[in-house]
Amino acid sequence: MATTQSKCGAPTKSGGSCRRRAMVGTSRCELHQGPWSPYGVAKRKAEEAKKKLKQRRKK
Ligand SMILES: [Zn+2]
Repeated sequence: MATTQSKCGAPTKSGGSCRRRAMVGTSRCELHQGPWSPYGVAKRKAEEAKKKLKQRRKK
């Protein structure tokens, strides 16, 4: 199955558009996707879960 990954295309500070490939399931690349993206949310949740685990262990 050939998946065609779209390009990020986010505006860069230099005035161009990002040439990185967008992450699968998102419309932005790893650099430009925000915390609202599925990838970012999953990452944040994982980090929060780790923090909670540490807090529980301290008790
Ligand atoms: Zn990008």
